[in-house]
Parts: sequence; C-alpha cells; structure tokens
Amino acid sequence: MIALLLGLAQAQDYAFPTSAADYGSWYLSTHFDHGGVDYACGSDRYSGHDGTDFGAGSWSGMAAGRDITAAANGVVQYVHDGERDDCANDCTSAANVVQIQHADGHLSVYGHLKRFSITVDVGDPVTCGQKIGEMGSSGNSSAPHLHFGVYTGTTGLDPYHGSCHSPASMWVSQGGYQGVPSRTCDASAPPPSSGGGGCGAVMLSGHLAFVAFPPLFLFGRRKRRQA
Ligand SMILES: [Zn+2]
Repeated sequence: MIALLLGLAQAQDYAFPTSAADYGSWYLSTHFDHGGVDYACGSDRYSGHDGTDFGAGSWSGMAAGRDITAAANGVVQYVHDGERDDCANDCTSAANVVQIQHADGHLSVYGHLKRFSITVDVGDPVTCGQKIGEMGSSGNSSAPHLHFGVYTGTTGLDPYHGSCHSPASMWVSQGGYQGVPSRTCDASAPPPSSGGGGCGAVMLSGHLAFVAFPPLFLFGRRKRRQA
C-alpha cells in the first residue's frame, strides 16, 4: 500500500547481469559485508563492502570482452565513462559506472567498467539482459571484475538471502553459496519507461558518483552496514 501511495510499482528481481555467451565465464569473488560475515554467515566479504564482486577471467577476460547487462528493466539514471580501466590498486580516479533506476525505487549499480564500453545514456529505458557495458578495472580496483550493487536511497542492500541476512532474495534465482545467480529475467517486472531523472536522481547520482564511489572502491574505508 505504501508503495502504491508513493507511486512505486512492484518490486522486480534481478538476473545475473551478463550475456548468455559470457555467463559461463563468471565466478563469485566477494560478497556484501554484514558486520564481519556475509549473507550466509561465511567470511567471504571485506569490511564495509556494500555490493557483490564477480570476476570473469581477469585481464584476459577483460581483453576478450565480458558483457555487462541490465539486471532488470529500468531507466539509466547515471553514467560515468572515460576513466582508466587498467587499474591494479594504483588509481585514484572514479570508476566507470552505470546506474539503473527500477520501478520499485531501487537502483542497480555496475562498477569498474571498461573505458568507453558503456552503450547507454542517462534517460535511456533498458530491458533486462540488454548490454550496457563491459567488465573492466576502473576506479579503485585490483583487477578486472564487476561490482554489482543495489541501493535504496544511498543505502546499500544485499540482494542475497541467507542465515545472516533475512530479507527475501532479490535475485530471480540466487544459486548456491559462492555460485553465480541465474541470468533468467523476472517475467513479472514492469516494462521500462522513460522519464527517470527527476531531482532525486540528480541528488543521488551526484552522491554515488563523487562521494560514494571513490571511497567504495577504496575497499574498507567506508563503513556501511546492513542491519
Ligand atoms: Zn565491490
């Protein structure tokens, strides 16, 4: 009811954000940090990490090209491109990134992308599975990987459900521990519609791009915990 009063549509679940051709190349790297444990009470996290990292063959995978796609229908809310993408813990510049606004109010964020690989612009409606860029190593990154984040406002949410994170999974099918979620799209998700980019989007993109992102990829300097 609250969502309806606010004009927000139903929640959608996420597909693993890559193409069918590249899906088999991906592996889980590091989970979201819940105060010292990951969602399943394991130790596959690092302090302050408020997203999930996935790798796909490191430098050779990046050279071959690893597609990043929209995890659900939405509207592109922020794009930043043009930064170095060969960072190996030696960059202080921002990451190349795409942020997508979804109908339920959540943002999905795709970080560390390859320079000039981004194929979408702010305001573009995107459908689940549509290519938006390629894996890279931009920003404060040690090697090529995807940082996938979900936000409500400026608060990071872990899309996984487990014994140390009780909310329902936001993946269509999250798969086993340390596996890779299914790339099946949420068939019940509302179609994308243009018209995103209101004042809230401007405020949020500025925060994530110029405040949150550099510290986010300085790994561990930001404290952001999910209750
Ligand atoms: Zn990360």
